[in-house]
Amino acid sequence: MRVVRGLRVYGARELGVDQRVCRGVAVGGCVARPHADRRFTSGSINAHAHNYREDDAFGWACFDHERHLFTPTGRLSRVFWHEYAHLLVPNADHGRRWQQAVTALGWPSEAVRYRPSRRAGPAAAGRSGSTARRRR
Ligand SMILES: [Zn+2]
Ligand SMILES: [Zn+2]
Repeated sequence: MRVVRGLRVYGARELGVDQRVCRGVAVGGCVARPHADRRFTSGSINAHAHNYREDDAFGWACFDHERHLFTPTGRLSRVFWHEYAHLLVPNADHGRRWQQAVTALGWPSEAVRYRPSRRAGPAAAGRSGSTARRRR
């Protein structure tokens, strides 16, 4: 971990993740706007991934606090893998590609939790049984 402009920055290598997917993780604010971050509001888990290719910070994940990045035993958290899945499938939101990615990472419960709403989700529209194709 190193400190860059007031943020604690973890490299992909020290986290043990693929650096081609995740350039790094910033904790304490957003790497794209370390001083004037207004996106982190209190009261909920605050993390996001820069998962749009047009973003200068593409490949970064940002967390408000280490307690959302690591589990109490020091492993990478569910929230981290949620964001990592975003980085695996750029420009995908919580759509089907993201659902498949987060499931493949070992978090099918996360895919269920963030299933697109009926209103917004083209793939999920209608029936509750329309889950992603499964490999047998
Ligand atoms: Zn950010
Ligand atoms: Zn998400």
